Amino acid sequence: MTEGGCLCGAVRYKSAAAAVESGYCHCSLCRRSTGAPVSTWVSFPVAAFSYSKGQPAIYASSSWGHREFCATCGTQICYRDSEGATTVDVNVGSLDDPAACSPQYHIHSIDRIAWFETADALPRYDGGKPQDTPG
Ligand SMILES: [Zn+2]
Ligand SMILES: [Zn+2]
Repeated sequence: MTEGGCLCGAVRYKSAAAAVESGYCHCSLCRRSTGAPVSTWVSFPVAAFSYSKGQPAIYASSSWGHREFCATCGTQICYRDSEGATTVDVNVGSLDDPAACSPQYHIHSIDRIAWFETADALPRYDGGKPQDTPG
């Protein structure tokens, strides 16, 4: 069981299934919506993910996806595709144990802020992962 929640504790979530994958996203939508130079996501199967306390507010950040966040403290919990989502991309920083999910790749690398760099040899994709829709 993986659990996490927002800064104020009003919204809590859990996943009964193991993470599918984890990665950095450098896209401008993730950057603005988190206020951080890069987002780090971990994906869980939609069927295994649920809210255990409170309910998030929802913001449609594009025509293809939305962000779920705490309406009280503003913590962004996750991204998911608006239609037909098979995974929920949880913001790693909201996990109770973020050390358990280490990133495996970078997406939207072409949008990386020039002064921001990570010391790793992970695969880097200019856009989304080859089989993914944009995040
Ligand atoms: Zn909160
Ligand atoms: Zn993104």
